[in-house]
Amino acid sequence: MGFSMFALIQKAKETIEKYFDRSRHTVASAVRTKNGDVFTSVSVKGQKLDLCSEWSAVVQALMSGSEIEIAVAVHRDTDGNYEIYPPCGLCRELYLTYCPNAQIVLSEVESVQAETLLPKAWTRKK
Ligand SMILES: [Zn+2]
Repeated sequence: MGFSMFALIQKAKETIEKYFDRSRHTVASAVRTKNGDVFTSVSVKGQKLDLCSEWSAVVQALMSGSEIEIAVAVHRDTDGNYEIYPPCGLCRELYLTYCPNAQIVLSEVESVQAETLLPKAWTRKK
């Protein structure tokens, strides 16, 4: 998974570099599905609500019909420095719900299975 993880991180960096706006978009997600497609999105700051970059990328991947294999989120600061962000609590629930088996990238050298990021989670009754 080494090179492909690196390539996905690069994709997220390119995305936030392209769309960076300190008052609107500061994080980008890149999600790859099992059939090789990569979906990207950025975080959205609204008037009342901020939305993590993960949501739109995950929904695009789900709509493609292929299972999510690996996902990463990269923050860019105003000086152009990048940092891989681990998912927040809500995004951990998102991953647990829609792709519990996906690998979630936590750093340049580490990824973990999504469901391990939220142990003993509450889940909706069927
Ligand atoms: Zn989040």
